[in-house]
Amino acid sequence: MKEVEKIRCLIIGSGPAGYTAAIYAARANLSPVLYEGIVPGGQLTITTEVDNFPGFPNGVSGLELMENMRRQALRFDTDIRTGTITKVELSAGKKQITIDGGKVIDAATVIIATGATAKPLGLPDEARYAGSGVSACAVCDGFFYRKKVVAVVGGGDTACEDALYLSGLCQKVYLVVRKNHLRAIKILQTRVLNTPNIEVLFKHEVISLWGEKAVEGAILLKNKEEEIPVSIDGLFLAIGHTPNSKLFKDYLKTDETGYILTINGTPKTDIPGVYAAGDVADPHYRQAIVAAGSGCKAAMEAEFYLMENGL
Ligand code: NDP
Repeated sequence: MKEVEKIRCLIIGSGPAGYTAAIYAARANLSPVLYEGIVPGGQLTITTEVDNFPGFPNGVSGLELMENMRRQALRFDTDIRTGTITKVELSAGKKQITIDGGKVIDAATVIIATGATAKPLGLPDEARYAGSGVSACAVCDGFFYRKKVVAVVGGGDTACEDALYLSGLCQKVYLVVRKNHLRAIKILQTRVLNTPNIEVLFKHEVISLWGEKAVEGAILLKNKEEEIPVSIDGLFLAIGHTPNSKLFKDYLKTDETGYILTINGTPKTDIPGVYAAGDVADPHYRQAIVAAGSGCKAAMEAEFYLMENGL
């Protein structure tokens, strides 16, 4: 017989949504247990400076922000553990989660805050320059490239929005598109094509990066044959995100990309007592402050649920 631990509130994930849910749940005496994944702190720990999280007038490093949130969750006695969720079983009457293929947790409420992962291009140089020239978040990191030259990879809505956002900050923006057309909605395409400091490079792909400490340039492959070096200070990836929802797909409704569907702008899922907060349920905003807000909502919903059901 496997050991089964009964808890009132299980939080899966340790980004802004997970930690905020923990702070609220702990202060409401739900005795939350939070499982950190392989990268405690989530996506923010791989960004450089966070300038748009309210309360930090001089900015804060992503790592420090997440460490602060973690410490705040611990201050109210959140039980933070390390482990990988290997199996879930979710229904109105039974919420059982298996950790590392062994221990089973029987939770009265579950807050899923597993985030999303920016799709990588798969270049060997990508990891080397993460945080020093390669970013997957224009809104987070664009400010650091003011008056500089950057490239955005992708041809969808995100890439076009990122290119437009960056065009307001940067001297020049290359939009590197692998096909001969953009996939983004027409209005974004028109705006991109009419912005003087955006140059769209159709049928181009990034094949490598160079630079001593940070990115100084990229080699682009044109029409799959001609190698073209371009000097850039930053490379923004906008080729899509993958929500970390795989484990839950058999139980919860997701959209076609895998984002968990929630009810009417709340973090409630179709299963009472199960909530999805942060990027795993947010294909649109993907901002730390939004994730934190939804983590707060999820914890409050969990508290109402436990109260209503006398748990
Ligand atoms: P998409 O999947 O829509 O687009 C990804 C883009 O990246 C495509 O142009 C794709 O090229 C390209 N791409 C994928 N892999 C590679 C690769 N390895 N190398 C080069 N290019 C690559 O992702 P988005 O993040 O843009 O959008 C996701 C969803 O979010 C969409 O439904 C979108 O509508 C929505 N969204 C809505 C916004 C809004 O309404 N304001 C803002 C942002 C997103 P190809 O076309 O060749 O496949």
